[in-house]
Amino acid sequence: MPSPMIYQDLTTAALLGHAAQYHSETEIVSVSTGGEKERSCWGEVASRAQLLASALASLGLPPGARCATLAWNNRRHLEIYFAVASGGWVTHTVNPRLSVDHLRYILNDAADEVLFFDQTFLPLVAQLLPQLPTVKHVVLMESRSEAALSQLPSLLFYDDLLQQGMADYRWPQLNELTPASLCYTSGTTGRPKGVLNTHRSLVLHALSGNQPDAAGISAKDSLLPVVPMFHVNAWGTPFIAAMVGARLVLPGPHLDGDSLLQLLAAEKVTVGFGVPVIWAGLLAAMRRTEVRLPEFKRALVGGSALPPSMAEAFQRDYGIALTHAWGMTETSPIGTINTPLSKHDALPAQEQQKQRAGQGRPIFGIELQVVDVDGEPLPRDGQSQGYLQVRGHWVVEQYYGQDASALTAAGWFDTGDIGTLDANGYLVISDRAKDIIKSGGEWISTVELENIAIAHPGVRSAAAIAARHPRWDERPVLLCVRAEGGEVEETDLLSWFEKRVPKWQIPDRVIFVDALPVSATGKVLKNQLRQAYGEILMLSLIHISEPTRQAEIS
Ligand code: ADP
Repeated sequence: MPSPMIYQDLTTAALLGHAAQYHSETEIVSVSTGGEKERSCWGEVASRAQLLASALASLGLPPGARCATLAWNNRRHLEIYFAVASGGWVTHTVNPRLSVDHLRYILNDAADEVLFFDQTFLPLVAQLLPQLPTVKHVVLMESRSEAALSQLPSLLFYDDLLQQGMADYRWPQLNELTPASLCYTSGTTGRPKGVLNTHRSLVLHALSGNQPDAAGISAKDSLLPVVPMFHVNAWGTPFIAAMVGARLVLPGPHLDGDSLLQLLAAEKVTVGFGVPVIWAGLLAAMRRTEVRLPEFKRALVGGSALPPSMAEAFQRDYGIALTHAWGMTETSPIGTINTPLSKHDALPAQEQQKQRAGQGRPIFGIELQVVDVDGEPLPRDGQSQGYLQVRGHWVVEQYYGQDASALTAAGWFDTGDIGTLDANGYLVISDRAKDIIKSGGEWISTVELENIAIAHPGVRSAAAIAARHPRWDERPVLLCVRAEGGEVEETDLLSWFEKRVPKWQIPDRVIFVDALPVSATGKVLKNQLRQAYGEILMLSLIHISEPTRQAEIS
């Protein structure tokens, strides 16, 4: 049917074209692996992306070919994002922190034809390459280096490719349903699965995810994505930034609190995106020094639950607002963002804080429901806890390479999370279904227990797990890492809980550890903790002394 309005496909080339045309001089700051700062701009990103795409075309890459990246957040990675997708191929961002086995599996599952990588990963690539039969071109994201060539004679060099590219290259006209990027889930349970984003889904995600009540990035912002570009497209930041012409600060590999603090201050960053553990590092660094961040007003935080005590500390001590968001690889990732409604402004301060602690409400284009074990929708009353399901324009329908639908018969994606929704759609995640503690037929939220533990000044981080129990099936056990100089003991923490949760939710044991095991995306590996400590209450019932118990679980 002829359209009464102009029909144009929603594509990454359109985003880049907008940034190049109207925000050409807006700066892109990039920290290299060696720590040097490089400065370019949207105009340069666009012209270099065109050169790269033309060079890839002359390598004879077929439409839809997957081009993998093993790279930090830097300017060449940004150029690859736009060049590959806009040229009609698929940017497959790979998490270099995964195990070699997982990397091999993912690269072969995607059947990547090109592999771009940062210098740091040369030994890893040299190790992997013999087991990657589909990879035809391996590109080091640097200028030519004889030393690198001596290690891998088949190497191509990024800067050489750009020199061979043609400045008059024109982007192909792509249908908006063409695949643009491929991201794998981290595979903490089972094999990693590929989620293929289309041009349309990426553009709609950026449009809706950046509304004023959502990420709210403007042309005046300097945006620092701490979230890696290899993790769900850095939550869409490259596309959001291009759409509004924001200045981007790409931090490279050094994401510890002190490095971040220096970079945020020097580059006058106004807003950041990242997981809670990153902001915990920044908070600790700010407490150690006098460096302050007058321009840094806010950060978007998701990927795992944001402890309310951390959000309060940032706001109270430094005037920095942390906004809580929820999403997953399968939702591209933004699903909900916690921005208030005007009625919330009238609430007492404590109620407002409670409201802000949850994961927020859906952005336009996302629908949520919580269902019971039979799949029946539960009331949106802020109380009824159930399995969270989602659908929308940027939610996976089918995993990459799989024939079966990823959806329920009713067309929803089951997130594997458990939570409540209220009448305005505010979501509170209590847990992942596989982590929640089922004690005597009642559910205990590990997220809530962890938030309470972390609010104790003597605790740096905490993870609650279900331990097997002969009478109650499962009971909570809390693993804690003490804060620097913290002298907190088990009895202190147990009495801390007494005032804060009903008695039956108080952990049966608190165990102090030096560190918690974390995944490649910064999430605590609870399955490992359950393996190590899941039987501890069964053991304690037969009165084994503590040293013996520790020996048995180690
Ligand atoms: P993976 O599922 O591969 O570990 P994702 O980044 O896709 O990696 O993780 C998505 C999951 O992370 C969600 O299903 C949810 O369990 C958790 N998550 C994301 N954001 C939050 C949040 N704000 N609060 C609690 N959990 C979160």
